[in-house]
Parts: sequence; structure tokens; C-alpha cells
Amino acid sequence: MKAEIVVIGGGPTGCTAATLLARAGRDVLIVDRDSEPRMVIGESLLPAGNRVLEKLGIEMDGFIVKRGAVFSRNEEIERIDFADAVDPHWPAAHQVKRHQLDARFRETARSAGVRWLEAQAMGADLPGRLRTSAGDIEAEWIVDAAGREQFLARQMGTRRRHELLRNAALVRYYRGVNLVEPAQPGDITVSAFEGGWFWFIPFADGEWSVGVVTTPGCGIRGDRWEGALALSADAAARLAGAEQIREQYGVQDFTAYADRFHGDGWMLAGDAALFLDPVFSSGVFLGIESADRLVEHFLAGTLDAYEADIREAATTFEKVVLAFYEGSFLDIVLAPQELQPFKYRQAIISLLAGDVFGGGPVEAQRVTRSFPAIARAIRNRMAQAG
Ligand SMILES: Cc1cc2nc3c(=O)[nH]c(=O)nc-3n(C[C@H](O)[C@H](O)[C@H](O)COP(=O)(O)OP(=O)(O)OC[C@H]3O[C@@H](n4cnc5c(N)ncnc54)[C@H](O)[C@@H]3O)c2cc1C
Repeated sequence: MKAEIVVIGGGPTGCTAATLLARAGRDVLIVDRDSEPRMVIGESLLPAGNRVLEKLGIEMDGFIVKRGAVFSRNEEIERIDFADAVDPHWPAAHQVKRHQLDARFRETARSAGVRWLEAQAMGADLPGRLRTSAGDIEAEWIVDAAGREQFLARQMGTRRRHELLRNAALVRYYRGVNLVEPAQPGDITVSAFEGGWFWFIPFADGEWSVGVVTTPGCGIRGDRWEGALALSADAAARLAGAEQIREQYGVQDFTAYADRFHGDGWMLAGDAALFLDPVFSSGVFLGIESADRLVEHFLAGTLDAYEADIREAATTFEKVVLAFYEGSFLDIVLAPQELQPFKYRQAIISLLAGDVFGGGPVEAQRVTRSFPAIARAIRNRMAQAG
């Protein structure tokens, strides 16, 4: 089989890249091992992701609208609203069951003329050949959009783990989760505890995705879910009386990046290039943004600029993620609003909404440079205020 460009992976990233390449007149083949999209994690979207969804023409009807996020730690709890961002062009996002969203991505790709092969990618002879369970494919370009297994980077030996982020997650689904104030219907909740955090993502049909992420030093012995729940009264209150409706599963080794994002006859996008951490729900957003930017730079012959763009955005997110685990992010966000300069709050909301390309708004750049100092100043004000 032959194709000008073969894309491994028909998730959000692969379908975005393939659709835009096909619309630009290229001959594109997606190779995906699954005949139908699966129910996978990556269910809470960011407002800034709407840019690419709108460009693709993907309708979001039927998904619950996500207008804000709630953060809690011990007794402290605070809600942020995306409408308070510096540039609230998209003041809301959606919470999605991924198999439903991914089906829309697939349909969009097929309508653009993308060909489809149901097969497992097994290896690549670069440049020029992808080996799959359905035979070899000759292609001028191979795009790896096959997710966090980082298929090509692993094969090339360029996959690196993050020095500090070595977290693991357990994922469950529930019905009957309690909506605890100040959460509004559709909000995501992040309940932090010493050594990790829970996520609560509501769906339109009343079901919830609930997960717990733990750090290597969390100190929990025995059953990790129950151990974490014992550390978070907030999570326990949300789950009181809720019914678990699917088997729990675990995910680990997810924070990793490739040394290079493109080379002779190959390109990486989405998780296949890098994945940071689930805490700010940046995965699908960075995936589809990277796919859009990859296509733009590929067509212009400026792939180095593509790589620089994505690394800069990821580095901005990384600073916020590290501030979350180190504590200063929550020190700022959970402080009483009258002690929090609004410009910092606004800057943080912009980052959480996905305004990270080019380093984000000026105030956001300042905040990412000085989370600990801002947190210290706020703590001092709190001490003075008694
Ligand atoms: C614990 C956890 C929670 C998360 N929560 C969120 C969240 O709330 N919001 C968010 O935006 N992101 C979240 N993410 C990240 C999100 O899951 C990913 O960033 C997103 O799915 C990336 O999209 P993608 O298209 O790059 O890859 P994927 O969605 O993984 O798609 C990859 C596709 O490639 C196919 N494939 C894989 N290997 C092969 C192969 N060898 N041959 C053929 N086909 C193959 C798969 O079948 C799949 O269709 C979370 C991640 C983790 C670990």
C-alpha cells in the first residue's frame, strides 16, 4: 500500500492533522488499531481548544458545558470562571465522553477525504516505510499521533521521562456524585491532598469520570484509592453514596517527551511528541493545537518553528504544573479573593483556559516566572490580616 502521508493514530491529534492535510490537497492515510473509538481519559477540554474544533467544524452539541474549575485542599475551596480570563474569547469548554468526541473527529477526517486502515503499527523503516499488522505502507512522510506510548520516539530511542513528574493515576466512573458548592454543573473539580489529587469530571448523562493521581512520595500503603480517599475529606464528601459503574484501571509512566519532533520523513504531534500531566486538562488541547501547527509549518517548510512553538507552550504549562505540585499555585488560587491581586488571578485563569502559546498574556508570563514569590506575598498579607 502507498500514501503520500501516513498518520499513525486516529485520535484527536491524528484526525486533526489528517483532516487539515487532506483539505490542503494531500493524500493521507490514517492507521489506527481500533475499529471504533474507545472510552479513554482526556475528557475535560480547555476553552482555547475551541479554536481548532471550530476550524475543523466539529459540533459540540450534546456535551455538557464546562465554564469553570473548582480547586480544594483541606478546608479551602475556590472556583475560577473562564469568563474572567484576560482574553475570554472562548469563555467555556466541554466535558466529553471521548469515544463520542473521537467519533466526530473520525467522521470529519473521512469527510475531508482521508483514507483509513484498521491496523496496528508495528515498526518504521525511516524514511519511507511503516510496517503494520496489515502489511507495509510506503509513505513520503510518517506522522506519529499514536498517543502517549510514543511509538516513533521509543523506536528511535529519543523518548525521555520527566525529571520531577513521575505520577500515577487510577481511573473510575460513577453515577450519583455529589455536586459540592461552589461547583456549578459542568465544572471540573480538582481536590488536592498531601501526595496527590482527585479529579471529578461530570458528563451530560449524569455519569462522572473520577480519578486520583498520586506522586511517588505520597506515602500511601495498601489500597491506593482508599488510602487517597482517607486523605481527602472533600473527595470523600463528593463520592458519599455514589455508585461505581465500571472497573477501575491504572495509568502510569505518562509524563514523557521526545528529544526531537521531526526529522527525515517523520513528524510527531500530540502525546506522541510530549505529555505533561493531567492536572490542568491540557492534553487534548495541546494535541489538536500541535496538529494544526504541524500542518501549517509542514506546508510552509518551517518545521523547526513548529517544534519551538509547541515546546514554548508546553514549558509554560509545565511551570504551572510544577507550581501545583510544589504548592504555590494552590496557595495563590485558594487565598481569599480580596488578598489576591485580580491581575494575577486573571493571568492564572488565562493559563488554565489554554492561553499559553507565545508564553501567554504578559501578566501570565510574569506569574509563571514567580509563583513562589507571589504565594509568599499573599501568605504575608494573610498573616497581617490575621
Ligand atoms: C490520567 C490522565 C488523565 C487525563 N485527563 C485529561 C483531561 O481531562 N483532559 C485532556 O485534555 N487530556 C487529558 N489527558 C491526556 C489525554 O488523554 C491525551 O493528551 C489525549 O488523548 C491525546 O490525544 P492524541 O490524539 O495525541 O492520542 P490518543 O487520544 O491516545 O489517540 C491515539 C490513537 O492512536 C491509536 N494507536 C495507538 N497506538 C497505535 C499503534 N501502534 N498502531 C495503530 N494505532 C495506534 C489509538 O487507538 C488511538 O486511537 C489525561 C491523561 C492522563 C494520563
